[in-house]
Amino acid sequence: MHQSTVQLPTLCARCGENPPVTQHIVQEHRRSLSPWTLLTMLIGVRVSRSEYIQYTAPLCADCAAKVKSRQTLGRVIMALGFLVTAGAALMLVLSYNNLSSTIGLTSQQLIAHYQSLMPQGIVILLGLVIALIGSSVSKISFASVRKGLYKFYNPTYQAAFAALNPAAVKNAR
Ligand SMILES: [Zn+2]
Repeated sequence: MHQSTVQLPTLCARCGENPPVTQHIVQEHRRSLSPWTLLTMLIGVRVSRSEYIQYTAPLCADCAAKVKSRQTLGRVIMALGFLVTAGAALMLVLSYNNLSSTIGLTSQQLIAHYQSLMPQGIVILLGLVIALIGSSVSKISFASVRKGLYKFYNPTYQAAFAALNPAAVKNAR
């Protein structure tokens, strides 16, 4: 909505120095995850305040290349994490199938068997953590946007943006 009304400075939003050669469209789903949100999720009521944000960031050739390689890196890390998780899950299923043939074990032996599955469980979680890290690496943001108000991280670009769009920044002064 605010997208169409803002004017873009002829500056790179990342370095604030070079003239832009390309426009990078940033799409974000900002979810405010508070302890309160977690609590409401636990009791089955989802009061998730998710905000969809989209804005355009002009980029110079140098920064566009850096952004692209960082996105690629993030996706590779993500894929690696999922691979680790999938591998560990497969191992878990295989071990579990072995367990089913051990009917008649004493409870102590069963506990020992279940404990032997712990490492796989930890690796599954580890893979998910790696995937999450990859996801955050691949997400590139140039500004914090709240209620249509922009705060670009690069101060030079922010100043140029504020001069063009005084109504779209928080502190115009
Ligand atoms: Zn740049």
